[in-house]
Amino acid sequence: MSNKFIEFQNQVEAVKARCASGEIGEAERDAALRQMRLQDEAWGDVWMLSPKGDWFRKAKGSDSWVRDYPLPLIDPATLPTVPQMNLRQVARAVHDCARCPLHQGRARAVPGEGPANAEIMFIGEGPGFNEDKQGRPFVGAAGQFLEELLHGIGFKREDVFITNVVKCRPPNNRDPEADELAACKGYLDRQVELIDPKVIVTLGRFSMYRYFPGASITKIHGQAQRVGQRLIVPMFHPAAALHQPKWRPLLIEDFQKLPQFIKEAAAFSQPKEADVSSATQLNLF
Ligand code: SF4
Repeated sequence: MSNKFIEFQNQVEAVKARCASGEIGEAERDAALRQMRLQDEAWGDVWMLSPKGDWFRKAKGSDSWVRDYPLPLIDPATLPTVPQMNLRQVARAVHDCARCPLHQGRARAVPGEGPANAEIMFIGEGPGFNEDKQGRPFVGAAGQFLEELLHGIGFKREDVFITNVVKCRPPNNRDPEADELAACKGYLDRQVELIDPKVIVTLGRFSMYRYFPGASITKIHGQAQRVGQRLIVPMFHPAAALHQPKWRPLLIEDFQKLPQFIKEAAAFSQPKEADVSSATQLNLF
């Protein structure tokens, strides 16, 4: 395990201790902590640790700070089996996973990001070129479009959890294969179980098939169906809507229904506790 993060944590604690002893004030402490950065040599990411103890990551090539947790602080030898993992442990396991051939071609695995108590979870297909570089889901053109769609209904990206049915990039963005989907399923099952969203939006065919095998997206998009204690809403993938202009207005229209679906799902789902234990994008530190 790299000790860079532990050393950085200790440096931050030393600044906090100076504040606690009265040597510096809170404003000086916070200013000092905001200046402190840790460069992740493996990926080129930059990390910060907030006065409240939350880690933030800015991926190489990105302008956004994301609430995240450094995987080097999780000892892989201590991981339980997937059904017992928390979200951080799922991310760690995905990072090291070699359960299917997709691990051979990935730069970085992409476990997903968002608040652990998100009401909406988006499930796409797999990481693309940019996602593979940054270790984050939906950061390319499709991600920008997804953010626009969310803003259109009064949501921000950091309000929702975003992930994919496979966590590693298929070569040349090809469709994920059945054995890859099967190998990766346990991670997604656990994420759904832990986040327990009121509404799951499937983006594209492969995540739709998870709930509605063999269905036609052109026939059932935008229609919410109750599955257990939540609603599942199949939608076109934003990347597909960017390539097929005729689908774009359909996707925008389907998104407009989401606030109502959340209200409907709230009637039969359980209230949720606040939790921020997984990666969450924030615009400001
Ligand atoms: S796609 Fe999923 S199962 Fe395959 S290597 Fe990546 S994390 Fe493991």
